Amino acid sequence: MQGLMMDDQLLLTAIMRHAEQTYPDQEIVSVTADNPRHRYRFRDAFQRCRKLARGLQLLGASPGDRIGTLAWNDYRHLEIYYATSCSGLVCHTINPRLFPDQIEYIINHAQDRWLFIDPMFVPLLEKLSSKLVAEGYVVLCPADQLPDTSLPNCISYEQLLEECTDEFEWPALSEQCAAALCYTSGTTGNPKGVLYSHRAMVVHTYATLLPDVFGVGRQDVVLPIVPMFHVNAWSLPYGAVAVGAKLVLPGPKMADGETLTDLINTEGVTISAGVPTVWLALLGYLRESGKSIESLTRVVTGGSACPWSIMEEFEQEHGVYTHHAWGMTEMSPLGTYNARVPDTVPADKARALRMKQGRAAFGVEMRIVDDAGTELPRDGIAFGALQVRGPWVCERYFRSDKSALTADGWFDTGDVATIDPDGYLGITDRTKDVIKSGGEWISSIELENLAVGQPDVAEAAVIGAQHPKWAERPLLLVVPEPGANLAPSALLAAFEGKVASWWIPDDCVIVESLPHTATGKISKKDLRTQFENHQWP
Ligand code: ADP
Repeated sequence: MQGLMMDDQLLLTAIMRHAEQTYPDQEIVSVTADNPRHRYRFRDAFQRCRKLARGLQLLGASPGDRIGTLAWNDYRHLEIYYATSCSGLVCHTINPRLFPDQIEYIINHAQDRWLFIDPMFVPLLEKLSSKLVAEGYVVLCPADQLPDTSLPNCISYEQLLEECTDEFEWPALSEQCAAALCYTSGTTGNPKGVLYSHRAMVVHTYATLLPDVFGVGRQDVVLPIVPMFHVNAWSLPYGAVAVGAKLVLPGPKMADGETLTDLINTEGVTISAGVPTVWLALLGYLRESGKSIESLTRVVTGGSACPWSIMEEFEQEHGVYTHHAWGMTEMSPLGTYNARVPDTVPADKARALRMKQGRAAFGVEMRIVDDAGTELPRDGIAFGALQVRGPWVCERYFRSDKSALTADGWFDTGDVATIDPDGYLGITDRTKDVIKSGGEWISSIELENLAVGQPDVAEAAVIGAQHPKWAERPLLLVVPEPGANLAPSALLAAFEGKVASWWIPDDCVIVESLPHTATGKISKKDLRTQFENHQWP
């Protein structure tokens, strides 16, 4: 028997409508190239979204067309998010930190019709434009600041809006309609596109707002430092708007401790989200300047494992609670979230729990399996390939005619993990980064966490380097804090008693810097190539 409820479609348009009607006076504050502190209200934002939807029609965009963006976290990017998706177009956010040939590949693979770009990226696109399918470019600036450019069909964003009225009826779309597109960074092979539907994004937004997930509410002031070009800034531009929270968008200043501190203090930011590298930059600035961040109560960290030293410094020096989250582009991105561990839990146990990636958000199912695909126990000890399923998990990649799922309908995350009897996920490693020593597995993440916790270590990586006897052995690479003098033997000795003796790296090399991917993660692939022929002591 069918239920008898309204068949309302789950659309991002509903978030926008609700926010405009319910919290018209709430503020959105942004840093942009042309304004160090732009501010306006929800009512202005969504009025401009209607103008932009008209502007997109003027540009000839028709339903299903991909509109690419190379832009920072700011109000214009937010307008593009809503105006494209809610008018039936696909908002394709592109990571400007990728190599130019990857950007070219992604734009052409996505067949982006128009590109909306920050003025900063004009020179990059000038070099690529002859090879791109895009018909034209909209530069995110006022008309009088449009750079002199060889880009074909190039106009300023503000001029486009000026030419349009704000009369626009948002179409009644199907909830299965594509809303946004984001490519994985392609650490193996070409980048792959994940095409999010309205339904997936709305259900995902609800899940992120739950009290034991981001738990964002009307009283919050939200600073998404995670880029809007990286999995929709973990959905905060939807969640914060849906509940009427104030949004603070840091523009290009995402790793600038001084600007972030100033935004937090002057705008009263209560919650922020970003990858561990951002927190290192912010904490480093706070340490040097002696400044505080009184209003901030919690930060969400994800994208890679968070060293304990970050959580400890945030809590002890600034009273900020760090929540560990795990997810991926293919999961919109949220998988698990580490909610506040009650104060009654003993310190040692609390620390061990907080280093894990947390519990599955309601809506995501997870399991770990062995090589034969047999499910492993949830005992916190067995580790295997982590698989997931749920309404916001990718079924197949964009323009692929093959399902990305296992025969029984699960998505293999490429991570190796444990799940404990309380449902906590512990990421051991990425499948390709786990170190296979004499047939046994060693977790590079666990070793890195210990290394980064040592004094004067700015950054550390552990990779499996080829070994004549054990096939692979762990090799520790350490970047010291400026001016620090670190002894490799002391760094290795510090592992003793903390991990099984055969896990202790066989060698340590002090390096000036480590290579990073476009999403700010340490590039283990580059390190493995660099240390391919490492001479063991
Ligand atoms: P890419 O796959 O291109 O690196 P994603 O942002 O989709 O980009 O990365 C997802 C991967 O990042 C996960 O599969 C996992 O390996 C890693 N990751 C994300 N969050 C965490 C975390 N909290 N701890 C450890 N690893 C994480």
